[in-house]
Amino acid sequence: MSVAVTAPSALALELTAACRGKRLLVLDYDGTLAYLAVDWSSVRRDLSVAAKEVGFESDFRPLFGEIARFRDVCGADQLSLLFRVLARREVIGVDGQRPRQEVIQAVRHAMDETGVDTVVFSVNLHRTIETGLSRMGIPFVSGIVGCDDVLHWKPDPEGLTRLLAAAHIDASEAVFVGDSDRDQGAAEAAGVDFFRV
Ligand SMILES: [Mg+2]
Repeated sequence: MSVAVTAPSALALELTAACRGKRLLVLDYDGTLAYLAVDWSSVRRDLSVAAKEVGFESDFRPLFGEIARFRDVCGADQLSLLFRVLARREVIGVDGQRPRQEVIQAVRHAMDETGVDTVVFSVNLHRTIETGLSRMGIPFVSGIVGCDDVLHWKPDPEGLTRLLAAAHIDASEAVFVGDSDRDQGAAEAAGVDFFRV
């Protein structure tokens, strides 16, 4: 009986090459591992309504630029007000998420070939990422930093440097896989190699 063996994709080979000599593979979530079905215009509208209740006027464009301004004006202890809004929308988004199977397969291949450890660095909520990974049957992530785990968001490297510190590794020993300029900015700010998918 023959067993079908699927050859690794070009993406899997490229990502594996990028992981050679590295110890930590950092993954963005939305747009990288999966597409969340989040209606971002509704998110902005709901955030505007919630923020107005504490006297903060904004259309939340750009989203995390304005969340940062809210933090500075209203105080970090008020951020939970906005995170509750995000949570309501992301619960819907994770229900309808579409996994990027080609990326997931490439990550699995890179891990098998290089032994690299894997974590997630995202501006989605910690719980959303946990739920999303669990629904996709991804058991291999050993750490998560979501937007509610930090006070400065991509392209700020706070979450990335925190993951490096937790793993006790240097920036040169990690590679960050993401889909956006903000991801790339965070990687560059932290001195971490960037791989775009
Ligand atoms: Mg993304």
